[in-house]
Amino acid sequence: MSVKVLYIAGWGRSGTTIVDNILNSYDSVFSTGELYYLWRRGLVQGRKCGCDLPVDRCRLWREILDHAYGDDRPDPRRISDLQRQVARVRSTPALIGDPLSAGAEEYRKVLTRLYHSIAEVTGAALIVDSSKVPSGAALLPRMRGVEPYLLHMVRDPRAVTHSWMRRTVQPDRAKPAVMRRHQPAESTMHWLVWNAFAERLAKSYPHRYQRLRYEDFAAAPRHVIEGLLDFAGVDAGGGPFLDDATVRLAPNHTVSGNPSRFRTGDVTLRADERWRQEQALGPRLAATAMALPLLHRYGYSMVPRSA
Ligand SMILES: [Zn+2]
Repeated sequence: MSVKVLYIAGWGRSGTTIVDNILNSYDSVFSTGELYYLWRRGLVQGRKCGCDLPVDRCRLWREILDHAYGDDRPDPRRISDLQRQVARVRSTPALIGDPLSAGAEEYRKVLTRLYHSIAEVTGAALIVDSSKVPSGAALLPRMRGVEPYLLHMVRDPRAVTHSWMRRTVQPDRAKPAVMRRHQPAESTMHWLVWNAFAERLAKSYPHRYQRLRYEDFAAAPRHVIEGLLDFAGVDAGGGPFLDDATVRLAPNHTVSGNPSRFRTGDVTLRADERWRQEQALGPRLAATAMALPLLHRYGYSMVPRSA
């Protein structure tokens, strides 16, 4: 039987983590979080799983890894190096076209076994991988026994820039650290490139690609999430919605992601619009100018309202 995987692509701070956590709270869904970082952050650096234990001490991930590889478990440093060689963002075009390099082929096989194991161990009808990295989405349609879906999330680049400039504590390390910050030019350049790659990947996902704006999700969360489950052909029973905009988030076993992945319990969803009032003119103009090639395509106006 094939394994359904919904991959979430897009640049950071576009709402991917909350969508991931909500989907994970359905009975039929298991979210891995940003699976791309399982090897380096989870297994090499010993960062925490969503269950608060270090990933290499989480019982579920131990079982998944044992079931996938038995005594033949790949060295996480080796896979981490392989990612750097063959699966960086800029490798995305090379992973779309035939044939794969030997390294990419090896990486593809390791991941294929991992996805199958996740489905078999968790029994979930849908696996959600919110890695975001476009190279991961490029490989997915080439995996045997995997039925891939691509969710491309975008958010107003001014809001994204504002979020990247804020100080964010990273709670998944042994000693809490601060997340790296990006200046507007850098953040918006990434926004452009990562979104352009996600658009390009759409062709590899015929009828299984969907673009979602964070703003549309925040305006009607329940409607959007149920639509996504329908899109992936998965039952929406046992869901977390208490009303149209409140969810009861279940505990999760996400291996990496935005710090908000540790949030469980009742959460009222509302759009984070702080940037409209707090953002200085400089960063706003820089982000607007740089994002122009895709700004209109995603329906964002050049002069956003300020409140
Ligand atoms: Zn865990």
